Amino acid sequence: MPTSHPPSRLDLTADCARCHALCCVLLPYRRAGGFGADKAGGVPCHHLRTDDRCEIHADLTELGWPSCVTFDCFGAGQQVTQVTYAGASWRDAAGEGELGEMAAVLSAMRRVHEMLLHLDEVAERSPDPAAEALAQRLRVLRDATPVEILTTDLDELQDECGGLLTAASARLRDPAGPDLAHADLAGQDLRGRDLHSASLRGALLIGVDLRDVVLDQADLLGADLRGADLRGADLTSALFLTGPQLAGARTDERTRAPARVSAPTGRPD
Ligand code: SF4
Repeated sequence: MPTSHPPSRLDLTADCARCHALCCVLLPYRRAGGFGADKAGGVPCHHLRTDDRCEIHADLTELGWPSCVTFDCFGAGQQVTQVTYAGASWRDAAGEGELGEMAAVLSAMRRVHEMLLHLDEVAERSPDPAAEALAQRLRVLRDATPVEILTTDLDELQDECGGLLTAASARLRDPAGPDLAHADLAGQDLRGRDLHSASLRGALLIGVDLRDVVLDQADLLGADLRGADLRGADLTSALFLTGPQLAGARTDERTRAPARVSAPTGRPD
């Protein structure tokens, strides 16, 4: 198998200046999802300027587009723009067919990058040869052609990745931690709960009160933290937390996030 250099943390973070606003054009969005309007995939957002910048960037949340602020492609946008399509813009696409292909590649690349992000955390916190082998296969895939990317079974890779993340989580967490995986805790006041080493994987944490709670070694993979109150919370050693999760929550200057995680800021104006 050919080798490929590990992407740096920056490669796994959206760099909109090196992208042709792919998410604003290729992906569909709905008003109900926090986007301020309904749009089909392949149609440019009506706020997109001709220089591929957003005309309402400074006021996205106030104008009803909070999901633009929390969206993060994990660096897939610049990878698809700069590598997969060698700098070509969606504006160069011949028609709906090519735009559709780019959209599918962007969605696939985002899944690949998200897996790489989590496997990078495993490599840093609890190295595992099997996780490194999968990361290497994903690095090769991210540099592949559109056809190769689109004909790869990503569900299978994601299942494999999920198993490796579960194993890493078990190695890193205290087994006495509560198992709240996929629990529906929406709206609850969790300030009195001991969440040390909790498995909160896939949990519904919309609007929960976690003020000043210590979430050390808590597994937050895929947890829905929209509107969660994390003011003063300590997530320094939480597992598999991502920027979009953090951006969707309420935080303040006392909220402590893992050094590897920063909230996305949306596309530049
Ligand atoms: S967030 Fe959107 S504009 Fe920014 S790099 Fe990703 S796909 Fe491109």
